Amino acid sequence: MLDQAREVLQTVFGYDDFRSPQDEVITQLLASEHALVLMPTGGGKSLCYQIPALVLPGTAVVVSPLIALMEDQVATLQQLGVQAECLTSMLSFSEVKAIQERAVNGQLKLLYVSPERVFSKHFYSLLQQINISLFAIDEAHCVSQWGHDFRPEYQKLSQLVAAFPNVPRVALTATADQLSRRDIADCLNLNGHALFVGNFDRPNIRYTVNESYGDDLKRLLAFIQSTYRHEAGIVYCMTRKKVESTAEWLQQQGVRALPYHAGLSNEVRQKHQKLFLMEEGIVMVATIAFGMGIDKPDVRFVAHLSLPKSIESYYQETGRAGRDGLSAEAWMVYGLKDVVLLQQMMDRNEKSEEFRRIEQHKLASILGFCEITSCRRQVLLNYFGQEGAEPCGNCDTCLNPPKTWDGTKAAQKALSTVYRSGQRFGVGYNIDVLRGKRTDRILQYGHHRLSTFGLGAEIEERQWQGIYRQLIAKGLLRAELAEYGALKLTDACRPILRGEESIELRSMVRGAGLTKKRSSALPAFDGMDRVLWMKLKDQRLRLAKVKGLPPYMIFHDQTLHRIVEQKPATLEALSEIQGIGSHKLSQHGEGVLKIIRNVLEEYEDIEVALD
Ligand code: ADP
Ligand code: ZN
Repeated sequence: MLDQAREVLQTVFGYDDFRSPQDEVITQLLASEHALVLMPTGGGKSLCYQIPALVLPGTAVVVSPLIALMEDQVATLQQLGVQAECLTSMLSFSEVKAIQERAVNGQLKLLYVSPERVFSKHFYSLLQQINISLFAIDEAHCVSQWGHDFRPEYQKLSQLVAAFPNVPRVALTATADQLSRRDIADCLNLNGHALFVGNFDRPNIRYTVNESYGDDLKRLLAFIQSTYRHEAGIVYCMTRKKVESTAEWLQQQGVRALPYHAGLSNEVRQKHQKLFLMEEGIVMVATIAFGMGIDKPDVRFVAHLSLPKSIESYYQETGRAGRDGLSAEAWMVYGLKDVVLLQQMMDRNEKSEEFRRIEQHKLASILGFCEITSCRRQVLLNYFGQEGAEPCGNCDTCLNPPKTWDGTKAAQKALSTVYRSGQRFGVGYNIDVLRGKRTDRILQYGHHRLSTFGLGAEIEERQWQGIYRQLIAKGLLRAELAEYGALKLTDACRPILRGEESIELRSMVRGAGLTKKRSSALPAFDGMDRVLWMKLKDQRLRLAKVKGLPPYMIFHDQTLHRIVEQKPATLEALSEIQGIGSHKLSQHGEGVLKIIRNVLEEYEDIEVALD
């Protein structure tokens, strides 16, 4: 059966080989067994159930949380000549009826549905009339209330599982933490069944975390302009207001930026999302409301203007870059205000003690990731249980190893200033005391008489901010929400204050944009190859417009790139190229060959004329 699966991989999808653990998952499902699959974003989860759906008799039912996600998958499948549909609330009654009929008559290989619909009475009776080949539950972490995308309807899927215990089911997610894993297995009754974990490394993504010096936007612009001019990217901001102002500012600087957040009307959101998918080189400035279900393969960068809440969120959001496997970048600026803000948001949470403990742990982990002085990728992979990776050579700390210094003395001064001023003041005030500023407030409280007053004058304000940030990040200080960010000592700072332990701090990195400029993802062509490349892209855009699809659904950039390199002369040679299955070959093959022939002839003529 796996041979049959491989055949489908090659003829329908145009790919040579499986990526681990696709083949194992497929074997499992073809043997009517259940599975839980953890693979990173872009790892190729969809093929794990799409191929068994094509090999097995009957219809696969795929549960997916977002209409956009389903539509995207179905459109991609239809471009491959696969009988797939999705039932959404956007369809008319007669459209729904037609799809249901095809399902009952065995004419659909895949049927996508939202979890809400699964539980309508009507759908349930439909399920009983269909020959279901398998259930696939995509984005399965939505069952977990600890996760970032909790969906109450997802928890009800346990009823579906109970009703069809013998239909093979596969749950898939890119969220790999233990809690989500446990919740998925409990809810979907997968304990004791096979668990497949893919490699969570995304080697083509370069990770960079910059310290904020208050000129974040300018640095973002420099980052975009230096390497990613005219490329698609996503910029994440914490608030709607920040989204609006950032998008506007980028537009003024000549970047094709669009805002996206939950406060915009449905119409505007859809328009912007569509532009992002259909056109090239758009930068989407968004809150985390944007992203799930965006399968655009050629997003070249994901930038964070604020700190994500957890490593899972960071990994998920940055994972939207470079799905096509070409080089891409995850870029972040992060500063003192992020640390304070996030800590305060967590304090505001009136959830259970367990919940708070988990959130605190998550915050500590993401802060640790930001402050690390060794390879960042190792931290990410360790977090997901993948230990023993070598330093990657493709993150900022590998490329520009940060310098550290013995910050024990400075930390003692910073901590004892907090202590002596009564643990009632925020970072700015404590820095003023350390730097010996005679402000009205300091005089009013008599803090110019503290023994630490002016004791840190030799260190710049910015640098003190970095020191406080690191002390908070390391859990030696907390910023209290109830007291407007007043700093409090934690028990952990005692050994430092007593001089029993020393502390290494990161030196401030001077000058922005230290990461080396890098070449774009695909090497540029020139001469005849460039003409061919442009013509193929034009043709792709034309076809995409006619079909109302994003260009990448016709061909990926990488596929076009290989066509230019190899200039196949026959359909057979063309079919050898990665990403060209039999359906695409029959639909577009002749057209592509004609463009190649024309360009070659044109250039022969030029050469003859020159002779
Ligand atoms: P995920 O759902 O895990 O985020 P997808 O299923 O969307 O990832 O796959 C990501 C990309 O990788 C898609 O463009 C897909 O066509 C491609 N892909 C998946 N499996 C393979 C494979 N075995 N060989 C080559 N490309 C693959
Ligand atoms: Zn590294």
